[in-house]
Amino acid sequence: MQKILRLIPSVDECLLAVLQDPEFETIPAMLLKKGIRAVLDQQRQKVLQGHDITTDDLELSVLLTSIKETIRALHQPVFRRVVNGTGVIIHTNLGRSVLPSDTLNQLCETSGNYSNLEFDLATGARGSRYSLVEKLVCELTGAEAALVVNNNAAAVLIALETLARQKEVIVSRGQLVEIGGSFRIPDVMARSGAKLVEVGATNRTHLKDYLNAITPETGLLLKVHTSNYRIIGFSKEVNNEELVSLGKKHQLPVMEDLGSGCLVDLSPYGLKKEPTVQEVVASGMDVITFSGDKLLGGPQAGIILGSKNFIEKIKRNPMNRAMRIDKFTLSVLESILRLYRDPQTVFERVPTLHMISTPITLVHNKAEQLAKVLHKSLKDCCTVQVAEVMSQVGGGAMPEQDLESRAVVLQPLTMTLNRLEQKLRALEIPIIGRAENNRLLLDMRTIRSDELHLIDKGLRQALAAEP
Ligand SMILES: *Cc1c(COP(=O)(O)O)cnc(C)c1O
Repeated sequence: MQKILRLIPSVDECLLAVLQDPEFETIPAMLLKKGIRAVLDQQRQKVLQGHDITTDDLELSVLLTSIKETIRALHQPVFRRVVNGTGVIIHTNLGRSVLPSDTLNQLCETSGNYSNLEFDLATGARGSRYSLVEKLVCELTGAEAALVVNNNAAAVLIALETLARQKEVIVSRGQLVEIGGSFRIPDVMARSGAKLVEVGATNRTHLKDYLNAITPETGLLLKVHTSNYRIIGFSKEVNNEELVSLGKKHQLPVMEDLGSGCLVDLSPYGLKKEPTVQEVVASGMDVITFSGDKLLGGPQAGIILGSKNFIEKIKRNPMNRAMRIDKFTLSVLESILRLYRDPQTVFERVPTLHMISTPITLVHNKAEQLAKVLHKSLKDCCTVQVAEVMSQVGGGAMPEQDLESRAVVLQPLTMTLNRLEQKLRALEIPIIGRAENNRLLLDMRTIRSDELHLIDKGLRQALAAEP
């Protein structure tokens, strides 16, 4: 055993060998050594545990392959792109909305250089970062004023804190939403210092329920979009116009947390007609909040818009500073919003909308194209088929409304499905699919044509015989 252990090359020997390869020249020495030590230690452990290790296994040239692999893995960024084959378009775990490249060019321009983030170019005086997108938000939605904060959860929190701290907020029992990641209306309400007053029944709430709950303590009437669930059957919600006129009569602001919020009508693409943000503004709501990275297809942000006096109050809230967005968000948000000026091209240019609106024939063709390539390259190690599946909009938007789609369905013959999924996650560009009935589905609605070669390469690598 001692003899074999002595055959393990030294760290310095390995380091010299690794540095022969120009790929590793610029990697910090401490990382190279860390990778080398990890592999050498592993070999040492194997010998000590009595594994059958031959002198050939300890040849420097043999070890070098796994040393390089280990170093590459240590050196690559932890946060990186993946291929989304899940079919969930707004996938919170996979980064929600994908941004268009023009937007990213603009981001490089404003963030790789100095910018007018808080500098008014017209007067040469200090400016406000919020004014950069406020006009645009108002132009597109018809609102009087707007403010952007870190995300919609922050938007709801600051709006409630400003308008209803130490006051009562009336909400329908059917709208006490919990969305993923611990955002629950009752909890957010408690943190804002407002007191929740639930009215109506789970399935039905009437205008008189709100009316009967109004007291001198009431500060706000709140409507919440039931983003990720539906109450169907014998159900009733009070519409915006009725709620707004009730608020007017009692001089109470009316607010709607729209959740996803969308500036375009998605009903031509097989989804249920939902009021657009513009329509909600037109209904007279005083304050409206929605996310930047759900159906809008932009960066993480919470957009607050509505009547000038309420928005100004929210802007002045000291909490605003703690929720302020950075220049990256502002830059991307402005770029995205500008795309909405042209309702014809916005569906092509904003990836989230593009994925929703891609006709099934195109999705089908893409699936056939990938299946053909994979058939050839994965011949003996995997079966490949195209199947009809359903994609989801995701992001808690449009529950129970799936989009027709096609998937490439893979059944590995040389390893278990678990092992294949694990290997696909370990790729330099990981491929994330959906497991169903012991098969791996790659839903083509969330996969771009320019990713097909990545999938081919990744699958070949993942299914290659293990040493
Ligand atoms: C998604 C959602 C939120 C939270 O939005 P984030 O931008 O994720 O913070 C709040 N309310 C509703 C109704 C939602 O759907």
